Amino acid sequence: AIGLSDRVKSIAPSPTLSIDAKTKQMIAEGIDVINLSVGEPDFGTPEVACAAGKAAIDEQFTKYTAVPGIVELRKKIAAQLKERLNLDYTADDILVSSGAKHSLYNAFMALCNKGDEVILPAPYWVSYPEMIRLAEATPVVIETDESTGFKITPEQLEQAITPKTKVLLLNSPSNPTGAVYTKEELAALADVISKHEFYVISDEIYDQLVYGVEQVSIATFGEEIKKRTLLINGFSKAYSMTGWRVGYMAGERALIKAMTSFQSHTTANPSSISQKAAVGALDHKDELMVPEFRWRRDYVLDRIAKMPMLSCDTPSGAFYVFPNCSACYGKSFQGHPINSCDDFASLLLEHAKIALVPGSGFGAPNNFRISYATSRDNLKKAMDRLEAFMLSVQ
Ligand code: PLP
Repeated sequence: AIGLSDRVKSIAPSPTLSIDAKTKQMIAEGIDVINLSVGEPDFGTPEVACAAGKAAIDEQFTKYTAVPGIVELRKKIAAQLKERLNLDYTADDILVSSGAKHSLYNAFMALCNKGDEVILPAPYWVSYPEMIRLAEATPVVIETDESTGFKITPEQLEQAITPKTKVLLLNSPSNPTGAVYTKEELAALADVISKHEFYVISDEIYDQLVYGVEQVSIATFGEEIKKRTLLINGFSKAYSMTGWRVGYMAGERALIKAMTSFQSHTTANPSSISQKAAVGALDHKDELMVPEFRWRRDYVLDRIAKMPMLSCDTPSGAFYVFPNCSACYGKSFQGHPINSCDDFASLLLEHAKIALVPGSGFGAPNNFRISYATSRDNLKKAMDRLEAFMLSVQ
């Protein structure tokens, strides 16, 4: 019968979107909801980036560019990777795409065959399992929790590896947990990786948003690992450029070349204007965002620590905290039972007027995600509401 492809039919709707839809509906009805579910900085795009974007339009830089992105941008990205992470790449080792999400999709499509396994540490960003399935590969989930700071151990990795393992996905700093792997932890994982034959997709999109810790890339642990690593990053988070859609991948030239061919037949170059804006963004040195995010993280953690039945690990990066609400399971709020993080999030939205994302979509049924990419005022109001709610859970 006529109908959609199995591929598309198999995609689970984004769990963040249903909360988002309900939140927007409530706001449209004039209800004062505080939105702690957003995945983008509340800061503006840096002026240098905006100016470069405007200049691109004025100068008619509005046509197709080279598929992997303009050389000027790729050179500058390579220079930044050298400066920030001490990694040696040239412009030819970089493929610029329409957002890091697009880079990730290119990577999975180019690396995975049907039946290949992708090792995916949980909690994971919601799009990874769907992208893996779109590439007809199988996600092999490694569960983690607060006991290891939401990080996988070398033993867990070793156990998850099979002859079908094609890719290990790493995301540090992590969405949704904010966890950042230390140099020692990565070195131990690199030891395991180097004993086997598979690729590493290292999503480092939050790499500039770290608080008092060093960001280290798995690609720095020797030539062999670097060759097998596809480093993913982009401009959305570090430069508040979510709408411009610029992300990139750095990796071995042969892989980049293959993915460039793939991109040439699917989307071709990312927006010429956005690429110019990204060139501008790389001149921007943040002085406000990181200290502000750090303040807010500390504020939220401090408030949550004083609330009954919630506990929360201290994340070192990104702009999320990921509290554990499982102590509420089996209890209720004003007669409404709380048996899951979904119940918890729905009740919070309806009764406390706070929108946040339940952990279920991230493979973490005991937790929920708070994004602190919103004003201090909003955070204070939200924490007051959350506290009042928690005090009524019995
Ligand atoms: N990777 C992670 C872990 C993310 O959280 C996001 C955005 O939420 C992305 C990648 C995609 O970013 P973009 O496509 O905007 O560059």
